[in-house]
Parts: sequence; structure tokens; C-alpha cells
Amino acid sequence: MASRPVGKPAAENFRVEEVALPAISAGTVLIRNRYLSIDPYMLGRMYDTRSYAACQPLDEVMIGETAGYIVASSHPDFKIGDAVVGQTGWQEYALFNPKSLRKVDNDGTALSAYLGALGMTGATAWFGLTQICRPSAGETVVVSAAAGAVGSVAVQIAKAQGCRVIGIAVGAEKANYVTHQLGADDCIDYRTVDSSTDLSTLLSRRAPNGVDAFFDNVNGWILEGVLPTMNLHGRIALCGMISRFGDKPMSLSTHEFLLLSRLKAQGFIVWDHLDQWDQAVATLKNMLKGETLRISETTSKGIESAADACLGLLNGHNIGKQIVQFY
Ligand code: NDP
Repeated sequence: MASRPVGKPAAENFRVEEVALPAISAGTVLIRNRYLSIDPYMLGRMYDTRSYAACQPLDEVMIGETAGYIVASSHPDFKIGDAVVGQTGWQEYALFNPKSLRKVDNDGTALSAYLGALGMTGATAWFGLTQICRPSAGETVVVSAAAGAVGSVAVQIAKAQGCRVIGIAVGAEKANYVTHQLGADDCIDYRTVDSSTDLSTLLSRRAPNGVDAFFDNVNGWILEGVLPTMNLHGRIALCGMISRFGDKPMSLSTHEFLLLSRLKAQGFIVWDHLDQWDQAVATLKNMLKGETLRISETTSKGIESAADACLGLLNGHNIGKQIVQFY
């Protein structure tokens, strides 16, 4: 990362550097990364502001989760060819302490899936949906950024639980993906409305029985618009705030519905719930086997494409998980 953004992040905040491969030292492994996960939290870490995690230092390798193969090892538990996932950053090769690496199955599952639906992304969707939204069959669940990585998994878990699901996503291509491929009952394009009030009106028409649970990846005026449509004792999983990176704080004009409808809104960070990780991934693997989980990725090629792929999240360029493939 070359510089901090002023306002929205830009390609100029990054640079690509070529350096010699480091020599392997005792107890370490050398990984050749094949895939880099691109996630909105990266955008948040670029700012030196109060957050749940430290900001990304300048002139260092950008933070990021990668999946790749061991190409040299001086650690007894890791051998050449093992598939591993870890926070090695935006780099093609990484010399790493294996303590913080996860070995993943070489069972024919696409390696990149362990960065998405079978990794942090899937665990996030599973936790927010099953532990906070807790919908019952027949209830109405709304998912914002429904065509994205977390949203697409949350939609499918809610459908698997027998809920009526309404996605929020931009454009006909995403609406088609959310309804026809993920199985949601409806999808709302928030760009067709100008205000949170109009969004409430539109959502009330599309969810005539009200909304019981809201999985929110976006925050801002979309959260503001969904609040008035929620039923008594509704649940809101505050998962992300992608609409707010680089923005000034805003107040929610509809916050009174939290009280009026006795809503429960809970923010969460997936890393605080590692004790439930295995359960989440096992459930998602079963869904994948039973074909109730469909995995989609948007893939860009080469490390030079990483900055644009990351900034593309802000412009909705991805359907499903955004991945960079190095080779
Ligand atoms: P996505 O794949 O959903 O990519 C981001 C999507 O957000 C875009 O494709 C776009 O979809 C939508 N978006 C971008 N800008 C805006 C905006 N201004 N208003 C509304 N929608 C916007 O990313 P992830 O699935 O990886 O992450 C989703 C959310 O979950 C993020 O907020 C992220 O920070 C959060 N997250 C939280 C975790 C936790 O532990 N709490 C862990 C992982 C992710 P569209 O074209 O439809 O607008």
C-alpha cells in the first residue's frame, strides 16, 4: 500500500513491487499463492481511523487472505504440495510461519472456494444468518448486497431454511442471478429509488407481510429504508457497511423503529466466533454436496489486477466472490 486515501480509495494508493524470493528459514514454509481473496474490509483498513482492527501500514504488503501450495518447507507438519490458506497478503509467494496457516482438503473442491463460501465469507454468512437473524421457515428475510460474496451465501442459507427471501442488488443481471441461480423470491434494485423513504415504500409492497430478519452488508440509507418495514421482534445482523467507507458519520433517521418494533440489531465480526467456524464450514460443505449451495466467483488475473478488483467492490463489479488468480 503506497498511500492513504483521501475520500474514496483509488488505484494510486497501491503500487506493485518485484523483490527477490526470500530464502527459507528454520520452521517456515514457502507458499506459491494461486488465489487472493478480495474483501471489503481491505478498503476499511486503508484508513487510519478507529476500527475493530489495526490499519494497514504504508509501504508494506497489503493485507489479504490467500490460497496456494507449499513449494518449500522446513516444518515437519507441512510438505511440498500441501494446499494452504492464510493471511499472507497480496503477494505471489510468501515465506510464512505455518502456525497461522490452515491446511485444506485436496478432495477435488476448488481451492478458491476456501477463500469464499467454504472460508471466511461463508462463515460470515452462516453466523449472521443462523445466529443473529435466526429466521423460522415461512419468515421473510431481506439480504443487502445479495449478489455479493457474503450476501449470495446468506440468501441460500435462508432459502434452505424455508424462508421467503428478498435480495437487494443493482441491475437486471444481478437480479437474475439472485432469483434464478440463488433461489431468492425477489430482488430489489436500490438504484431505482432515490431515498430511504422510497425504499421503505417499495419494500413494503414487495414484502406485504413485513420483514422478519435483515442481513445487512451495506448500512447507510439502505438500512434506514429497511428499518420501518420490519415486523415486531425482527432481527438485524449488522454485517458490513460497504456504502460508508470514506464517508462522514451519519445518523439513522428511522432509528425509532428499533424501539417501536422492539427490534434486535447486532453487529458482529466473524473472527470473534472462531469456535463456530468448523460447524459453519461443515454445514456449507454439506449444502454444496446436496446442491443447495451454489458458488459463484468473479475472477481477475494477475497481481496487477488486484487494486482494480478491490476498488471494483465499491462499484458493484463482482457477482459472488471476488478473487484474483495469480496463475
Ligand atoms: P461483496 O461481494 O458483497 O461486494 C460488495 C458489494 O457491495 C458490491 O458488489 C455491491 O453490490 C455492493 N455495494 C458496493 N457499494 C455499495 C453502496 N454504496 N451501496 C450499496 N451497496 C454497495 O463483498 P463481501 O460479500 O465480501 O462483503 C459484504 C459485506 O460484508 C461488506 O460490507 C463487508 O465489509 C462485510 N463483511 C463483514 C464481515 C464480518 O465479520 N462482519 C466479514 C466479511 C465481510 P451492488 O452492485 O448490488 O450494489
